[in-house]
Amino acid sequence: MLDADFFRRWMVATAVSVDREADRLTALDSPIGDADHGSNLQRGFTAVAAALEKEVPATPGDVLTLSGRLLISTVGGAAGPLYGTLLRRTGKSLGDAAEVSREQLAQALRSGVEGVMALGGAAPGDKTMLDALVPAVEALGEGFGAARAAAEEGAVATTPLQARKGRASYLGERSIGHQDPGATSSALLIAALVEAGGE
Ligand code: ADP
Ligand code: MG
Repeated sequence: MLDADFFRRWMVATAVSVDREADRLTALDSPIGDADHGSNLQRGFTAVAAALEKEVPATPGDVLTLSGRLLISTVGGAAGPLYGTLLRRTGKSLGDAAEVSREQLAQALRSGVEGVMALGGAAPGDKTMLDALVPAVEALGEGFGAARAAAEEGAVATTPLQARKGRASYLGERSIGHQDPGATSSALLIAALVEAGGE
């Protein structure tokens, strides 16, 4: 079972890898965006990690709703509201349970991903974070390692796609041949589940 401390470790591990990969995320956002994805997420997850260092909310759901709220208030651009919605929706869906199973997390993440789709109007194949998140959630039933592999594969598979949503879509065919920054950061978020000690 996964308790509030597991969810705190998940968010802190995400903050650490976003910090480590910030330059790469910004470099990916340079040819098909405005070169701010790394710094956007770094600002957001630094705020999340700082808040969770002061006080860990009592339940998994509260850890994620707090984190989502902070992302919305600190991250500009498209990614802040989208990641914020993902975590808030997932947290709300977990309810007030003190511990949740991996299967319950998979179910809750599914509703978080639906929230991202409703807010941004994108679907898998549009070259967005959904191309990593959707396969990851599908694979979560097999374990956190399988979810990480599916997310990383999904992120790499955005390279030949033409962007149909977000800033990159303004480039039309010129968006082809570049890996999507948001799918890449989503793969970091999913990989952090393994780093948090999930099996
Ligand atoms: P901005 O595009 O406002 O500069 P970021 O650079 O932080 O914001 O984030 C860009 C990422 O957000 C993209 O790589 C893509 O994965 C994701 N994104 C953009 N628009 C959407 C959308 N409508 N639905 C899902 N993800 C999106
Ligand atoms: Mg950007």
